[in-house]
Amino acid sequence: MSEARISDAWTLSGDSLDQEPIRVFSRAALRDMCAARPAGTEGFHRELVAPYRDLGLLSYTIPKEWGGVGGNVLSEAVLAAELAYTNVSAALLFTDQAVCTAVLETLATDAQKEWLYPEMHRGAVFGIALTEPEAGSDAGSLVCRATPTDDGFSLSGRKIFITNGDSADYLIVFARVAEGMGAGDIAAFLVERTTEGATVGRHEQKMGLWGTSTVEMELDGCLVPHDRVLGDIQGGFRAAMVALERGRVAIGGVAIGITERVLDLLTKAFSSSAMLDTYGNVRQAAEFGMADIYTELSAARLLILEAGNRAAAGNDGVRAITSAAKVFATDVAMRAASNALSIISPEYLDGDDWNELERQFRDAKILQIFEGANELLRWLIARELQRAP
Ligand SMILES: Cc1cc2nc3c(=O)[nH]c(=O)nc-3n(C[C@H](O)[C@H](O)[C@H](O)COP(=O)(O)OP(=O)(O)OC[C@H]3O[C@@H](n4cnc5c(N)ncnc54)[C@H](O)[C@@H]3O)c2cc1C
Repeated sequence: MSEARISDAWTLSGDSLDQEPIRVFSRAALRDMCAARPAGTEGFHRELVAPYRDLGLLSYTIPKEWGGVGGNVLSEAVLAAELAYTNVSAALLFTDQAVCTAVLETLATDAQKEWLYPEMHRGAVFGIALTEPEAGSDAGSLVCRATPTDDGFSLSGRKIFITNGDSADYLIVFARVAEGMGAGDIAAFLVERTTEGATVGRHEQKMGLWGTSTVEMELDGCLVPHDRVLGDIQGGFRAAMVALERGRVAIGGVAIGITERVLDLLTKAFSSSAMLDTYGNVRQAAEFGMADIYTELSAARLLILEAGNRAAAGNDGVRAITSAAKVFATDVAMRAASNALSIISPEYLDGDDWNELERQFRDAKILQIFEGANELLRWLIARELQRAP
């Protein structure tokens, strides 16, 4: 049976986009790597670092003048879809690195870029430590403290839900440099993961996303020298928001990859003889479900293209459309995976394909929660629409 390729239809071309090698990598080497990992194995795909470095995925959004690929947010979304088609955790390693690059682009001094961008080229993996027990959606209320010392700052506090916080080489940690709760008092600090005073705590047991670890981090007198305070000491929070807003289009791309894979698996099931025998004259009801997924996928692709093009062009006032693109594409992915599991059952797919469908379902949920929870983004869209012109 030939494998249907709904996903092949989303092909873009452009300066910074070389989609074919990523597609080939995703559907061959990445698929083999994932298949070799026992189900449920938690943790960061260390084995991804070398191929990602060689494909330029760890330095993809570093500007060309700094020796990077210079990829924009739209091409990032398209490549994220290629990776997520095979494995969402693998796609998030790519998009998280881009979020960190965006923080560095907004904040870091030239001296810091001269040091950190080559690190990324060499394969260093970066992570973000923003969220705290009482500061999730409302990240501006974080309480982690940065107290001045003779040589820099001492960080103390608790961070939670840090993706690959146990294995990334560097973490960008956000902490408050003054009393009070102003967003302007939040700075970004570059912390090597092995720094004394930064201890990895509990590992979250997650329903999906098994190829990443999600950990708590205890900061207790973690010393950070002056040259590791990223740029403007008052600009940390703004830089985090810029980076997360930028990242929403890419998360929409991850969602497209999930939906494409689900639809490919569904189409494959429809051509199985077991499906033909079982459904008989009620087949049409199942076909309507498949048609709905295709329709929503097509709409999500167009919305990501529109939002990505506008964001990549540097247009102002893109917050509503980029948020809408993230909300819509991630809701579509969740619905597609859920409905596919209702339409077909394991007898219509071989074991590996069925496991893939289940995994895409488990992995889809997180996309509705992070990079701005969809409920929050709906509120933000409404607020943007009511802004005075
Ligand atoms: C697997 C995973 C990986 C993550 N990786 C990272 C990471 O690498 N770095 C990092 O810093 N963080 C990370 N996070 C944290 C993530 O960004 C937060 O989970 C997210 O911001 C939501 O925060 P919260 O979990 O505290 O939920 P809350 O903010 O408590 O929200 C709970 C619910 O209430 C809703 N809600 C909250 N406020 C409002 C409001 N005003 N109006 C309407 N509804 C509202 C939300 O939409 C949500 O449904 C990760 C989380 C997960 C689960």
